[in-house]
Amino acid sequence: MFNFARFADWLLRPHCLLCGTGEAENLGICQPCLNDLPWHSASSCPQCGLASNGLTCGACLSQAPHYDATHAVFTYAYPIDVMLQRFKYAEMLNHGHTFGQLLAQSTANRDVDMIIPMPMHLTRIQERGFNQALEIARQLDKNKLDTHSAIRQKLTPPQASLPLKERVKNIKGAFAVNADLTGKRIAIVDDVMTSGASLNELAKALKNAGASHVECWVIARTLPR
Ligand SMILES: [Zn+2]
Ligand SMILES: [Zn+2]
Repeated sequence: MFNFARFADWLLRPHCLLCGTGEAENLGICQPCLNDLPWHSASSCPQCGLASNGLTCGACLSQAPHYDATHAVFTYAYPIDVMLQRFKYAEMLNHGHTFGQLLAQSTANRDVDMIIPMPMHLTRIQERGFNQALEIARQLDKNKLDTHSAIRQKLTPPQASLPLKERVKNIKGAFAVNADLTGKRIAIVDDVMTSGASLNELAKALKNAGASHVECWVIARTLPR
């Protein structure tokens, strides 16, 4: 028989933001949906985050990037790709909150002095209304958040609009660092890491300003198909 009290109770409880029926637990997502998410594998290259046996991959050994480590929460796959797109272009800022909390949990033991969200050019911030990397980084340690030391001085076409091999050229010289970062351990926060060209260019600028160690902290790592 239909039990109104139980139905009302179900209606009033917060539901999973992915399946809409499960009971929201951690971060507004139900446990079965959480288990099914494309979590980034531990058997990845610690430096670039691409698939390996957990050791530094051949590409990083032969031509090391400027960043020293990569931490990704997810692999860029369904439904994370859709959620990130919604967050980025449809202004679903609550997804940014969720992603930021996941990143905060999974990086709690990592040792850095500063957290720098990937800077966005002023023109782009005006177009979009917000910087998605900053929205994610807001959920991390506020005492380490730094939004002024690095700026994006060059307005470039969006990396996603370019073939992979043109991305390195496109982003060259895009960042300026106006701080003495001698000996600092820094995490750069971004939503997605694809070619890694932007993160690498910013890491280079941070190292030139004295940083001793730079890590990429991203929500999702794109893996080659
Ligand atoms: Zn669910
Ligand atoms: Zn690697």
